[in-house]
Amino acid sequence: MKMNIEKMLEYQASDQIIYKAEQAFSSSPENRRYSQIVAKINELRATVIKLDKEAADIRKDIEKKEKQLEELGIQAERSVAQMSDEKSLNEINRNEEIIKSFEDGIDAADKEFFKAVKRLEDIEREAKQALVEVKRCNTDLEKSKLVLQKKRAEMQAELQDEVMKRKAIQAQLDPADLEIYKKVRKENIRLPIMVEYVGGTCRGCGMHVENDLRGKIVESGDVAECPNCRRILYLK
Ligand SMILES: [Zn+2]
Repeated sequence: MKMNIEKMLEYQASDQIIYKAEQAFSSSPENRRYSQIVAKINELRATVIKLDKEAADIRKDIEKKEKQLEELGIQAERSVAQMSDEKSLNEINRNEEIIKSFEDGIDAADKEFFKAVKRLEDIEREAKQALVEVKRCNTDLEKSKLVLQKKRAEMQAELQDEVMKRKAIQAQLDPADLEIYKKVRKENIRLPIMVEYVGGTCRGCGMHVENDLRGKIVESGDVAECPNCRRILYLK
């Protein structure tokens, strides 16, 4: 594969200046702050959804417990009513035991019922609190967005000349060469992506790749992909 190395390197040099400025913008405290707020909002929203689901489950559970309590109450009343009909002492004792077990059951169910109601109240409070925080974060986000917009505009103004320069060089390139470059560039490989092939070694990753590239990269202007880091290797 052949390439107009000189022109492509000129393009890359300009591209690299723009890339560095973009990277600096991405890792700026202003951009990090913005991302943090977005992450916080997402986290809070997920919490609210989780709490809502838990609350729905508890409400169902409370309904079930109410029915259970009602049922136990009816059974206990029935046993009390039977008491007056019982004749022998044994039967009376047995019935008292049954009533006692119903009462214990009601007590236990009552306790669980109140525990569930208490958790439901807690959930409502937690969800409310989370929503207040979301509101606060949204205000922060708006402020942060303005700061970021200003910074982006500043960066774009500073880069304006370089962007024009890159465009001018691009107009002189062979579209096929540029396509190869852009394909690698899209893969988020750290620039420079066009690196010199010297003594069988890739200048990008430092790997000795002579065996892989034998015959592919022979004379000046030849290019080949580094099998290790995927950068474009060229021979001067
Ligand atoms: Zn490499």
